[in-house]
Amino acid sequence: MSQHHRTSALLAAVLSVASADVIASPSPNAAQERPNVLFVFSDDHATHAIGAYGGPLAAIDPTPRIDQLASEGMLFRRSFCTNSICGPSRAVILTGKHSHLNGFRRNGNKFDGSQPTFPKMLRGAGYTTALVGKWHLGTTPEGFDHWDVLPGQGAYYNPRLRTADGPREVEGHCTDVVTDLALAWLEEQKESDRPWMLMCQHKAPHRTWMPAARHLDLYADIDLPVPPTLFDDHADDASGAHASQMPLDRHMELFYALFVPPPDGSVPKGGSALDASGYRNLARVTDEPRAKWDAAFGPRNEAFHAAKLEGEDLVRWKYQRYVKNYLRCVRGVDESVGRLVDWLDENDLADNTVVIYCSDQGFYLGDHGWYDKRWMYEESRQMPFIVRWPGVGSPGTECSAMIQNLDYAPTFLELAGAPTPDDMQGRSLVPLLSGTTPKDWRDAIYYRYFEFPGPHQVAKHYGIRTDRYKLMHFHELDEWELYDLETDPDELVPLIGRPEHAGLAASL
Ligand code: CA
Repeated sequence: MSQHHRTSALLAAVLSVASADVIASPSPNAAQERPNVLFVFSDDHATHAIGAYGGPLAAIDPTPRIDQLASEGMLFRRSFCTNSICGPSRAVILTGKHSHLNGFRRNGNKFDGSQPTFPKMLRGAGYTTALVGKWHLGTTPEGFDHWDVLPGQGAYYNPRLRTADGPREVEGHCTDVVTDLALAWLEEQKESDRPWMLMCQHKAPHRTWMPAARHLDLYADIDLPVPPTLFDDHADDASGAHASQMPLDRHMELFYALFVPPPDGSVPKGGSALDASGYRNLARVTDEPRAKWDAAFGPRNEAFHAAKLEGEDLVRWKYQRYVKNYLRCVRGVDESVGRLVDWLDENDLADNTVVIYCSDQGFYLGDHGWYDKRWMYEESRQMPFIVRWPGVGSPGTECSAMIQNLDYAPTFLELAGAPTPDDMQGRSLVPLLSGTTPKDWRDAIYYRYFEFPGPHQVAKHYGIRTDRYKLMHFHELDEWELYDLETDPDELVPLIGRPEHAGLAASL
């Protein structure tokens, strides 16, 4: 039986047992039939920085290999997180439960590794499991046969890594180092007849945006398209939006975020709110990559100082420096996806491996004048989610059903033929991947953000989003926002308080 037919037969079998709500333990023979799972996960990669999702930045072709994955698989157009921040998103993915149940509400919490997670369950079902790269949950990974992780946020250059055997440092750019670790582990699995699940988790394109040396000149000679809301004055927003520390103009720091030293070469005194990790990391970069860094940015920084920009011109300059460095980091991730997919192809594993590209939340790329994430607004709540599963569904399709990071754990368990615990709050995406949206698929999703006070000072809020509308409550401010996403996709016209929408707000 060909790989294609085996996978299709497996899907049919999986779907039939799933519909009976009883999934037996897989037989040893079935273990070889079940697909491998390659989960490539980045940090802060917004959908509007992926060519396949479209938008103004798609014109510069930022992600050719991720786009190719989408053309061979399925792209989810309405993919959302439950809590738009790094650690919490990861905890939701592992547990299939909202933050208030898995206990990891905000960065700085410690993940309770004793609770059930999908990697533990896959292992119990006969899978070999591994995690390489960013972990960011504060505790030691559990449920993995192999793990090799960045401590904390990790460093872009010559990263330190934490393993069961102790720490070490590896020379190179973090995205390449993590990809190398993933490929080395995959090579080891060729001798095994067990299915595997690998989480390859990148630091990029998280701040402080430090591209690999080979990408420093990308986009150097063009002006990126500017988002139409770059100078949004937030006039009609709830007060929390005014108070947040996310604007490029007032809060994006030239030295620590954009690597522009003062003209005299001094090091600005950083307050506690500034992320100095990039500056400290750069001080450790030597030889060829450092020479290339200085050659790339030195003349550009001199030109910046000579121009003495102010006001909107300064914001436009910051936008270009910021988003170019962000997209240079994205290019490294894109190349990683290419290397991993090529390895599957070269080793005849493509047909029986489900490949997922995803990131922990969205990000503001100058949209509404901002950077960072956290909000329930669309740019930060959207997660890229692209799946290639050869032989299942039609290549190059899009799904517009509302999905969440809650759904990944039940999906991976169904792929493995393992039962999904009743207390997981997500729902398997396997039917969607095979081209069928169940009639009772969710018609609304819940969101909650907890991290205040905290970095960027985004007020606590929760809310609901339906296919068309979004209602948000800043509960500590007792302020509400209501948007019609169909007529107002950029969420610029709050409808709360308008008599004609009182019934709508109440029903939401
Ligand atoms: Ca993140």
